[in-house]
Amino acid sequence: MDYKTDIEIADAAKIEPIEKIGEKIGLKNDDLEHYGKYKAKISWEAINRLNNNKDGKLVLVTAISPTPAGEGKSTVSIGLSQAFNRIGKKSVVALREPSLGPVFGVKGGATGGGYSQVIPMEDINLHFTGDIHAISTANNLVSACIDNHIYQGNALDIDVNNITWNRVVDMNDRSLRNIVNGLGKKTDGVPRQDHFMITVASEIMAVLCLSKDLKDLKEKISKIIVAYTRTGKPVYISDLKIQGAVAMLLKDAIKPNLVQTLENTPAIIHGGPFANIAHGCNSIIATKLAIKTSDYAVTEAGFGADLGAEKFLDIKCRTSGIRPDAAVLVATIKALKMHGGVNKNDLKEENIEALEKGFENLRRHVENLRKFGLPVVVAINQFAQDTDAEIEKLEKLCKDLGVEISLCQVWAKGGEGAEDLAKKLVKNIEKQKSEINFLYDVNDSIEDKLNKIVKDIYGGRRAVLTAAAKKQVKKLVELGLDKLPICVAKTQFSFTDNKNVIGAPRDFDIEIKTVRISNGAGFIVVETSNIMIMPGLPKVPAAENMDIDDKGNIVGLF
Ligand code: ADP
Repeated sequence: MDYKTDIEIADAAKIEPIEKIGEKIGLKNDDLEHYGKYKAKISWEAINRLNNNKDGKLVLVTAISPTPAGEGKSTVSIGLSQAFNRIGKKSVVALREPSLGPVFGVKGGATGGGYSQVIPMEDINLHFTGDIHAISTANNLVSACIDNHIYQGNALDIDVNNITWNRVVDMNDRSLRNIVNGLGKKTDGVPRQDHFMITVASEIMAVLCLSKDLKDLKEKISKIIVAYTRTGKPVYISDLKIQGAVAMLLKDAIKPNLVQTLENTPAIIHGGPFANIAHGCNSIIATKLAIKTSDYAVTEAGFGADLGAEKFLDIKCRTSGIRPDAAVLVATIKALKMHGGVNKNDLKEENIEALEKGFENLRRHVENLRKFGLPVVVAINQFAQDTDAEIEKLEKLCKDLGVEISLCQVWAKGGEGAEDLAKKLVKNIEKQKSEINFLYDVNDSIEDKLNKIVKDIYGGRRAVLTAAAKKQVKKLVELGLDKLPICVAKTQFSFTDNKNVIGAPRDFDIEIKTVRISNGAGFIVVETSNIMIMPGLPKVPAAENMDIDDKGNIVGLF
């Protein structure tokens, strides 16, 4: 079998000019703001016009708890959207923008793989249309203005030991987690401890993804809390009088980006918060546009369904009115075997027993999605080494659980490899109307909301707050900022807060270290004990295998 790399397949694709892709969803040339031949932003006039279209259906693609074996959510989302088009249902895929951190770290890009990719993949994976750079700059303008305000006399009485706003860079750079800035001469600023996060964890990213339009964006930015005064009062971006400047820096970043898949299916790629340390889904603007221009729109929520899907439903759907009609739970036989205890190096061997054990992880995710009222189809992203006996066993386990299963060969065959999945979804959606139930009432206490997530979604006992976290909760209650949805920052690899506890554990507590308000985004971020908001690079970063030749040809990007 000839195995081509993702970039080789992408380079050989018959890419169409972006106007042709726009035409498929009712966009005229004037509606597009071109970034070269194959990428464009979509104008507000067009978005407002298309908003009058009737809604299509929405499929949410999510997954079992990730393992180092890889699941392939983006690959399945792209393949599925291609498949819908092949079976005569108009479809657009709405995805997140890749962050440069994972591109150069372990994971690589986020443009799918094999014959289910979005292209031009090297552009999308690198600087794309500059949205993430604009978000970094907007975030760092706020930092610069905070430090300048303090230097210029600190009229707001900002407590330098209680600045909650961090600087950001879109890179995995552990050395910037804790820094001291303002060193040097008197005119070089006031020294203080500061921190960097990766850009995709920034509240600016969350705000951009949760805004309806520019007006909403500016209002949300105004409300962001960046610090507290020495008497404990919140300091808002509006106190610094820079909400206009910050919104202005995002004037293009807030417009969705149009590209295409290898089979020329329109793809809207916009916004990219991580699902472990942030809320994990693309922008409301992009998802709504996909719904308005499709019979069946496909979107993806990051990492496992305990993180991505829970936040998609409890945060994004609650604030936007978006309601998915069905969920696809992506799993691989390899990953299920890993959840059953198999070592990464032994995955090639058939192991029915481990598969059955690891199935418990899948079972819990299916049950969770059902709690939200969503019809679920399990998509098995097939790998060459999956054996017939393993596939048969998995089909039997799914049958016993009463969940439909579809084998997908999207990586090897593109859309053709997900036609069965697309047909099953159409059948399910036509048969069963989904009624989304949110997991908790935002008016519940922070502890109650958290305990519901821990018990009903993670399968644990309770959330245990450290003394510092309890103090932070008390403060939010005093400020009247506790009636908001919760965004849990937790490892993606486990239902617990320990990445090594795989499978479907029970009887565990989740330790909460920090509780902080994202008042602009409109949620409360709760960090578990072992979470990093600035990732680090591995011993051998993916960057070491990348290259570009004299003609501009790229290798090693995946
Ligand atoms: P996720 O969205 O779950 O993080 P991706 O769709 O980005 O995963 O896929 C991760 C990697 O795995 C990609 O490099 C992709 O090419 C590869 N991959 C996905 N599915 C398959 C498959 N069936 N066979 C081989 N490689 C695959």
